[in-house]
Amino acid sequence: MLHNKTALITGSTSGIGLAAAHVLAENNCNLVLHGLMSEEEGQALAAQFSSTYGINVFFSNADLREPQAIAHFMEQAINELGSIDILVNNAGIQHTECAADFPLNKWNDIIAINLSASFHTIQQALPSMEKNGWGRIINIASVHGLVGSKNKSAYCAAKHGIVGLTKVIALECAEMGITANAICPGWVDTPLINNQIEQVAHEQATTFEDAKYKLVTAKQPLPEMADPRQIGEFILFLCSDGARSITGAALPMDGAWTAQ
Ligand code: NAD
Repeated sequence: MLHNKTALITGSTSGIGLAAAHVLAENNCNLVLHGLMSEEEGQALAAQFSSTYGINVFFSNADLREPQAIAHFMEQAINELGSIDILVNNAGIQHTECAADFPLNKWNDIIAINLSASFHTIQQALPSMEKNGWGRIINIASVHGLVGSKNKSAYCAAKHGIVGLTKVIALECAEMGITANAICPGWVDTPLINNQIEQVAHEQATTFEDAKYKLVTAKQPLPEMADPRQIGEFILFLCSDGARSITGAALPMDGAWTAQ
């Protein structure tokens, strides 16, 4: 379905991004893989994708806290693969602590990685999308782009911000064949949430698996975490022609969390 298209997925060395990379690669999409791993590990991952799926792959471990590193990596990726047709802003981090005690460096990192980096990648990717008259911008926000939770001030601020950014990009690109949407997942089973599970296990003197269940069911009516591949399948749908009228939306995938 995505033959001759190229997708750049930030944070695709782990979790949701890695699962989405597999789903798009299965559909013949060329890939820019990206994330915090050594150059050697990244090149090995790229080679593995390339040989398994017969696609072109470029890898970068640019630190998204650095706007200049983002500009350099995007320029390299476009030179290498021709254009970025699908941009998935997925990389993200978490830190949980009440606002009164929230460390400034954590606030700055979360805003930089979970919000500002997407503004920078969108700026870099738009010219080639506009030139081709086709593009898909998919921002992995969160249920926390729609509602708040205690101890997540920076995360909620960044995720609400990305929902706002998505709306503006959709409006500005509506006549260019480019759609922009935010996916808002509830709990997804990835390494990002392990600290939170371990904290509940410690506080309630219980097992990791029991703590995981307690964490999910505290807010989410559907009592299971999503599999990261489900987000990949949703991204694939948003890339299809059938989804061309969906733009400017914040799309919950949250087991009815925000239905309450
Ligand atoms: P993860 O920890 O498995 O992966 C995060 C990715 O981001 C990794 O590839 C990592 O290398 C990259 N990254 C982190 N800091 C970076 C930096 N400074 N520079 C470059 N890359 C960096 O996490 P995940 O759960 O797959 O999260 C992916 C996205 O989904 C995030 O935006 C997250 O907020 C969002 N999300 C996750 C959940 C969940 O329950 N896991 C729920 C809703 C939304």
